Amino acid sequence: VDTTSSFIVKGFFIFSSRIKEALTKKEDEKAFDYERASRIYQVKIMSLNYSWTLDDSTGLAILIMDVTEERNLSKTKSDFFSNASHELKSPLTSILGYQEMIDAGIFTTEEDKKDAVKKTIKEAKRMKAILADMCTINKLENEKQEDIQKIDLKDSITLSLESLDPAIKKMGLTVNADLKEYPVVSNQSDMDKLFQNLLSNAVKYNRKKGSIIIKMDPLKKFISIKDTGIGIKEENLPRSFNAIFASRIIDSIFERFYRVDNSRGENSIEGTGLGLAIVKHICKLYDFKVEVKSVFGEGTEFIIRTK
Ligand code: ADP
Repeated sequence: VDTTSSFIVKGFFIFSSRIKEALTKKEDEKAFDYERASRIYQVKIMSLNYSWTLDDSTGLAILIMDVTEERNLSKTKSDFFSNASHELKSPLTSILGYQEMIDAGIFTTEEDKKDAVKKTIKEAKRMKAILADMCTINKLENEKQEDIQKIDLKDSITLSLESLDPAIKKMGLTVNADLKEYPVVSNQSDMDKLFQNLLSNAVKYNRKKGSIIIKMDPLKKFISIKDTGIGIKEENLPRSFNAIFASRIIDSIFERFYRVDNSRGENSIEGTGLGLAIVKHICKLYDFKVEVKSVFGEGTEFIIRTK
């Protein structure tokens, strides 16, 4: 609770009408949420009877609690549920559509049938990827992190680059990686996921024959992943680095299921919209900072600052 006197004095006048209103209600309804300076407060009002005083005077006790995190968490959870249902529904609808058309014998040529099956597989893979990312977020949120040990981030980056090799070759990308030993105390699988997501974005959103530059500085404690891709418009970036971790919900690439327009639609680049939400979550868990700099049309740089 903000206990500065100005808050209390100003607050008293602002609250007074709501307090009067609340006092006319039943005992269990004498509470309301109040928003001020980007925080949400729950105001609880209790009537007090000082029956021990001579004049039997009455009074009020007002309890003000900062419930910003609680309220935002429940909003995030319900948004996540409705977005997830929506995101899973669209591939499922196309799968059903194609299967019904195959069943009805609408595709006459072998080629058309094969094409429909291919599209069905693509949509099923999309559902699988969304579910896998949802499970990762759920694990990060609910499970105690185990297997925390000294590991080398160089291994996570090498592993990610190896798994992305076919995609890197397909795009004709040049990878300029200044790989160094970079010890941290954390969970191996979380670190693998962190770099897998950042590097797969650097590949996916790159241009043909573009490049990826990886810098590791264990002394200054940062890792930078820079690409020469499509870039991100200012409006889709968090307003400040701190905003990435702000409790208020903001529309940025770090939000769950948030995908920039060019990542949606017919010729879109495949993705779940959960990768950077996973990155944000992992960084928060290990007290890392994540920064993003981007020039639309030129490229993007993600910097991870470790402890
Ligand atoms: P997705 O599965 O869509 O890649 P992410 O959460 O990883 O989901 O990223 C969210 C959005 O941020 C992407 O849809 C894309 O528009 C944008 N984005 C992420 N990384 C990059 C990048 N390196 N270059 C350009 N755009 C990016």
